[in-house]
Amino acid sequence: MTGTTTEPLTAADRCDRCGAQAYVRVVLPVGELLFCAHHAREHAPKFEAVATHVHDETQRLLEEHGAGAGAAR
Ligand SMILES: [Zn+2]
Repeated sequence: MTGTTTEPLTAADRCDRCGAQAYVRVVLPVGELLFCAHHAREHAPKFEAVATHVHDETQRLLEEHGAGAGAAR
């Protein structure tokens, strides 16, 4: 284990679906996917079946922007 996949996500990390800031990194046997909180929820049933690791920082939305920013909870 090198630990590279657990590095914090930054503002430069973008959702692969919509380009918003990514808060979830999904590590797959063939590579990585980045998702915003919205798309992480939307695609969770699919990627959770195949992911080797899921790095979820969606709680930071609440810490940084307050309870209203995360939408739906
Ligand atoms: Zn997205």
